[in-house]
Amino acid sequence: MTPQEIQKIEPALQGKYYGGFYTPSDSTGDIHKFTRGLAAACLRKGAAFVHDVNVENVETAGGRLSVTWASERHAEPQRTAMAFDKLVICAGVESRRLAGLLGDRVNIYPVKGYSITANLETRESQAASPQVSLLDEAAKIVTSRLGQDRFRVAGTAEFNGFNRDIRADRIQPLTDWVRCNFPGIDTSKIVPWAGLRPMMPNMMPRVSAGRVPGVFYNTGHGHLGWTLSAATSQIVARLVDASAFANASA
Ligand SMILES: Cc1cc2nc3c(=O)[nH]c(=O)nc-3n(C[C@H](O)[C@H](O)[C@H](O)COP(=O)(O)OP(=O)(O)OC[C@H]3O[C@@H](n4cnc5c(N)ncnc54)[C@H](O)[C@@H]3O)c2cc1C
Repeated sequence: MTPQEIQKIEPALQGKYYGGFYTPSDSTGDIHKFTRGLAAACLRKGAAFVHDVNVENVETAGGRLSVTWASERHAEPQRTAMAFDKLVICAGVESRRLAGLLGDRVNIYPVKGYSITANLETRESQAASPQVSLLDEAAKIVTSRLGQDRFRVAGTAEFNGFNRDIRADRIQPLTDWVRCNFPGIDTSKIVPWAGLRPMMPNMMPRVSAGRVPGVFYNTGHGHLGWTLSAATSQIVARLVDASAFANASA
């Protein structure tokens, strides 16, 4: 795209640009809304969820898979152990530890990222905020417009183990980027966030069967977990189905 075309596609974008790429099929969404909606759809299909627990152990016992978790709601942890036929490990940066308990090496490491969400409370802020999702290649910053009144800006790759602190010196560059590129947005009310991307060294997710029969992995999606999730779930579902078929015909 030429600078003129960029201006036509996203008039809110300020600043001087030499050129850009435009992907009409690109889209954005509210991940919180999506996952809550997906969970509700799973419940309608008969799934059961166990929330606010910490999976402490996974082991094979008597030819079945045993999972032990502790409730996080009680002062004294209350443990539950349950046996399963099959298990899909998708525990983000914790997948490595769980895989280790099952004799698999899943070399996931945490890469911390940060985002800010600007609440667009005035008409001026809403008009000054872009509708098209943007990727600033040089600054390594991506943006999403979430409905009429929120604008999210994300970036940064920090190597700091499992630390989840939200550092002011990481948030400031994101705010400065907004102020520089979209000076009409009021940044006095931003919501900062930090999360750990479950990253594999080759940046490809691990979607495969494990060493122990009945164990599968769907994890390590790094910086593109939502983007890839539907496709990799389909792949792992096929693997699980195929193993059920193999067991039935054995
Ligand atoms: C700033 C930032 C911006 C991003 N932007 C995008 C984007 O625009 N598009 C995109 O596609 N991706 C994006 N990502 C990446 C995306 O967030 C991840 O790839 C995705 O969240 C990975 O999903 P997951 O379910 O595999 O792991 P997680 O989201 O980490 O979920 C793992 C879950 O397992 C639970 N868990 C772990 N261990 C245990 C245990 N022992 N017991 C019980 N529960 C456990 C955790 O509590 C958590 O709920 C971004 C990430 C960051 C940090």
